[in-house]
Amino acid sequence: MDRRVLLSLLSVGAAQALVGCATEHHPRATVRPAAVAVRDGSSEPSPAGALPLPPIPPPHPGAPTVVSRDPHQTRRIALTIDDGYDPDTVAGYVEFAQRSKIPITFSPNGCYRAIWDRHADALRPLIEAGQVQIGNHTFSHKDLLAHRTDADIQADVEKNESWIERTFGITSRPWFRPPYGSHNHHVDAVVGELGYTKILMWNGSFGDSTLITPAQLIGLATQYLQPGTIMIGHANHQTILGLFATIEKLIDQRQLQPVGL
Ligand SMILES: [Zn+2]
Repeated sequence: MDRRVLLSLLSVGAAQALVGCATEHHPRATVRPAAVAVRDGSSEPSPAGALPLPPIPPPHPGAPTVVSRDPHQTRRIALTIDDGYDPDTVAGYVEFAQRSKIPITFSPNGCYRAIWDRHADALRPLIEAGQVQIGNHTFSHKDLLAHRTDADIQADVEKNESWIERTFGITSRPWFRPPYGSHNHHVDAVVGELGYTKILMWNGSFGDSTLITPAQLIGLATQYLQPGTIMIGHANHQTILGLFATIEKLIDQRQLQPVGL
């Protein structure tokens, strides 16, 4: 094996081992209907610290519902970006949010906290303005259907929530994105008990949970960025970094309205 390839593989393996996150294998987008609540997409980020975040409300446990598209006849879309195991890609998304003012819902895993924590100050004013939201994707990114006890699942979710509250100053409730999109009624009820009553799925994907080419990613963006789409992407691979302007143009040309959840 070429030494550079070996070193590159070793470095990827070491990074995964250091952070202890489960390996990423998101399914490609499938069409799964549901409902999305929406906020006015016109919010502007405030200057840092201008709007103090309100106190974090207590959990409101309840029956969960699965959300994977906007059920209304609008031109709204929601960009939802997960994980964050590549430092440059996380930084690129944060810069994109700052520059474009496009609402984004990030669902980071706390096992990548060494990467996310350095952006907390930059994200804070965007969170205060309501432009950026945080969902719960578990701390470990382990599959919820892989022989997990209810207590183990709840601890994984609560650990991520604690990190999110400490780091970003807000709660991720009620939004829960299952790792790998892997969930069932039982898992939904288990997280519903913690106040995660919105199970966040998707009906469009950038397909970038694994490394793909720019042409592939733009092909998927062109296919899926349509009115009502909840788009899933990943801050894991750098393909997206050269494509933000193209995606923004696509959103403008199609007169889509990006919104938070
Ligand atoms: Zn994920």
